[in-house]
Amino acid sequence: MAVQTIAGNATTAPVDLGPAAALSCRECGERFELGPLFACASCFGPLEVAYDLPTGSPEELRERIEAGPDNIWRYAPLLPVPADVAEKPNINPGFTKLVKADNLARELGVTGGLYVKDDSGNPTHSFKDRVVAIAVEAARAFGFTTLSCSSTGNLAGAVGAAAARAGLRSCVFIPHDLEQGKVVMAAVYGGELVGIEGNYDDVNRFCSELIGDPLGEGWGFVNVNLRPYYGEGSKTLAYEICEQLGWKLPDQIVIPIASGSQLTKIDKGFQELIKLGLVEDKPYKIFGAQAEGCSPVSAAFKAGHDVVRPQKPNTIAKSLAIGNPADGPYVLDIARRTGGAVEDVNDEQVIDAIKLLARTEGIFGETAGGVTVGVTKKLIEAGVIDPALTTVVLNTGDGLKTLDAVSATSQASATIKPSLDAFRAAGLASA
Ligand SMILES: *Cc1c(COP(=O)(O)O)cnc(C)c1O
Repeated sequence: MAVQTIAGNATTAPVDLGPAAALSCRECGERFELGPLFACASCFGPLEVAYDLPTGSPEELRERIEAGPDNIWRYAPLLPVPADVAEKPNINPGFTKLVKADNLARELGVTGGLYVKDDSGNPTHSFKDRVVAIAVEAARAFGFTTLSCSSTGNLAGAVGAAAARAGLRSCVFIPHDLEQGKVVMAAVYGGELVGIEGNYDDVNRFCSELIGDPLGEGWGFVNVNLRPYYGEGSKTLAYEICEQLGWKLPDQIVIPIASGSQLTKIDKGFQELIKLGLVEDKPYKIFGAQAEGCSPVSAAFKAGHDVVRPQKPNTIAKSLAIGNPADGPYVLDIARRTGGAVEDVNDEQVIDAIKLLARTEGIFGETAGGVTVGVTKKLIEAGVIDPALTTVVLNTGDGLKTLDAVSATSQASATIKPSLDAFRAAGLASA
């Protein structure tokens, strides 16, 4: 087993990350000791966590999970975290609502059951709390004292909050022109927030440089040198959805794509549940959703390409605005292998879909939620998503962070004097 050290590796002692056994290369399969590594030393492929998964009967494991806490730590036996993780200070995300969206289903003509997995219910109101909570445990295990990231907005807030709670310093990097809600959420927890004059891909490149420089020594970048651990947090979405469906796989799922990490790890989560016998093995289709103004994966899917050509993002769905998505080729693989697809919608369709979800289900999603609901609608109309099958749509963030998207069309119906006459004149009384 090769042992690697890179700048930023703060410790060489053996680490306890529960069932995590090693890092393995997704391209060539070479294995490495657990550490703050992200690229294979032989082929530069991305690394992922390999496990000694629990043995024993599925019934035992299911009972153990169901008796666990109401957050992602109920799945600790399947995650790269120490066994006593639930007792440490962390933001404890997860076990968010799976809403049976009957009103939306009627509107879209879905008869097989439509569910919205609403991750706006996490501590900092996006799915990013899941990935960060896992990265915090890796940062602790490797002795990092500063937590960092390159972010399209939501990640910065999640890192700020998690670092505050874990007693770590944080310094996070975002494109300078993000929505105010995301900037404030990233700054309020008291860490350092740096706006970079450039887009996310510039921020990411900057962070890669920082990591190889003495300036970044002792820093755990959740989505760079801790990326293999970080990514595993997204598996909990797969676990929760299946548990909440009564330990069943959905038939179809619609997932937003920024870097593509979330989508690939939800597939990994489903595969693990099948392997462990926690769900029945059956086909499922994974659909990826992008905004037209940043749709490199969707473009590659439609063109039949295996590689993703980078784009310069221009969309209101800023949380998904990654023009050069690291996991793009893996997303293409999964969409094709499962019989799914990758599709995109324009900004106007995103806004309509945000309002459709709010109007039908009382869920105010951020622009990324508009992207998944919009793509779901488009793929049903195109006959690609089967309305007779069980379908789960992810809402990964909170509309309060992207108010600008809908503020022009969501205002008071009337502004009146406090008198009944004025209200009558406004024509809003019930008939
Ligand atoms: C980051 C993010 C995603 C997707 O992230 P991946 O990089 O594809 O894992 C989806 N929705 C929201 C709201 C996000 O912030």
